[in-house]
Amino acid sequence: MNHYRLSTALALFTLLSVMACMRAFAAGPDVSQEKLVDPTHLIEVSPGVQVIEDRDQIVLVPNITLISGSDAVLVVDTGLGPDSARRVLQVARRLAGTRRLYLTTTHFHPEHGFGAQVFKGEATIIYNRAQRDELLKKGPAYLRLFSERLGVGAALKEVRFVAPDIVYEREAEIDLGGRTVRLNHYGRAHTLGDQVISVPEQGVFIFGDLLETKSFPIMPWFPEIQDTDVDPLNWREIFRTVERGHPQVVVPGHGRVGTAADLAAAARHLDTVHAEVARRCAAGQDLPTLQKELTPMLRAQHPDWDLPQWIPVSIQVYHARLCAPDKAP
Ligand SMILES: [Zn+2]
Repeated sequence: MNHYRLSTALALFTLLSVMACMRAFAAGPDVSQEKLVDPTHLIEVSPGVQVIEDRDQIVLVPNITLISGSDAVLVVDTGLGPDSARRVLQVARRLAGTRRLYLTTTHFHPEHGFGAQVFKGEATIIYNRAQRDELLKKGPAYLRLFSERLGVGAALKEVRFVAPDIVYEREAEIDLGGRTVRLNHYGRAHTLGDQVISVPEQGVFIFGDLLETKSFPIMPWFPEIQDTDVDPLNWREIFRTVERGHPQVVVPGHGRVGTAADLAAAARHLDTVHAEVARRCAAGQDLPTLQKELTPMLRAQHPDWDLPQWIPVSIQVYHARLCAPDKAP
């Protein structure tokens, strides 16, 4: 069994969750080259809103969004490490010309924000406080894990963490000139510091890993590295809040750009897992039985969705929150 075939369908966090059994293995080939952001995948999804799209659904390659106004351009996410970030900066500079640049990241995870250093001094960097604090707290452990266990040590070799220039608490607005962008931190969900970035007047919403299109959700649950902060209940509340803003274009963390229908499908899935776990644990089912019975049922509901290996993790997370709240951190 080779746990290091990282370019296979194995998802990132499933790998992390089994890292305990990987410790005995030597590191495999470095796959950093496969994880570079590809600027030729740039598409316009709404006037003044462009996305370098993760159209091939490559693990560890995120969507990057660039929002342009008459005065400035906002970049959302950097890609995994400085090499990807340099590519993104090049695209941003080409779009912006002499206009100023802003950078924000959807959340602290390495493929979304571990290239920010490239933008330091080139762009005004803005994070919410929870995200900034989470990066400081968890960043080094994630850097080590990704470098040593996920075959992307080369991409992350030169990473250093940089402080944002602006920190906000719950909500911020950036006037790019004729186009206003809103940044909202709605509390913990996929991470402690997720933010939803939107162009409200155009119904554009950028979710980071709060949403993946045509994919089961990624719920980071890693007691091994003391990270069990994921909160699926507030996650669902965030969807309700966003839905009130009438989203039309949704940019997921990974996968193709979608529509309100993708958001609705993701919300329905969360509701199903929630209801099934609650019902079954009230009936006395333990976690292993729950996972065994519920996983194939959930998978069968979306045979075309990616990352099915995350289903049992989601069940575990709901179980911790709903069935054993005294044990939840
Ligand atoms: Zn993430």
